[in-house]
Amino acid sequence: MSFIVAIDGPAGSGKGTITKIICEKLNLINISTGGAYRSVALATLQNNIQINEIEKIVDLLDKINIEFKRENNKDLVYLNGKDVTRRIREKDVTNIVSKVSSIKEVRFKLNELFRKVAKDKKVIMEGRDIGTYVFPNADVKIYLDASLEERAKRRVKQNEELGIHIPYEEIKEDIRKRDENDKNKEIGALKKADDSIYIDTSNMTIEEVTNEIIDIIKNKMT
Ligand code: C5P
Repeated sequence: MSFIVAIDGPAGSGKGTITKIICEKLNLINISTGGAYRSVALATLQNNIQINEIEKIVDLLDKINIEFKRENNKDLVYLNGKDVTRRIREKDVTNIVSKVSSIKEVRFKLNELFRKVAKDKKVIMEGRDIGTYVFPNADVKIYLDASLEERAKRRVKQNEELGIHIPYEEIKEDIRKRDENDKNKEIGALKKADDSIYIDTSNMTIEEVTNEIIDIIKNKMT
């Protein structure tokens, strides 16, 4: 029997951090759908394909293999057998990922992958359209949000931890643009599902958000 927790929200809303903690505490499988979109964007760059060469990007989908793995307590994303977890957070990938993820064939293909990896499992899946589109019948649906400034601050810190140095103003502008693009997608746009629980994390600690969501999940599990 599957059990699906869908966590949606914009960049820097805390989805990644919170999801990681919850999956460990409740023993759920963690799937970061953004990592898969980023992997397609990376493959696009690696193959010297331009962002407007949609057919070529679509052809690429049959040639690439994306896997989610858990090793030494870390959730990793593999592209064609190679660990790309850190690489896909870099600026060149971030700059094009929203455009790549706007291609409907890319979304169909990755949604298939997400549904396949979640089949008969207990998962927590984070992204933009999990509760609205990928798993509209998810057992728990959460929409995390925070102010643009707070989200940019968090992303700077997260990048620093990965050894990626990008200034605050640049990150803020990137997130603002990405939000706009993500909210205006034809399919899979970033939006709160009618039945999801909205949590503004701007003034909350990670622990507070985590505990609130764990209580919601535990209530549903019993
Ligand atoms: O969550 P993350 O910042 O890694 O996501 C990167 C990008 O992937 C987002 O800006 C969005 O364009 C795309 N994405 C998406 N649908 C999802 C998850 C991510 O379109 N479910």
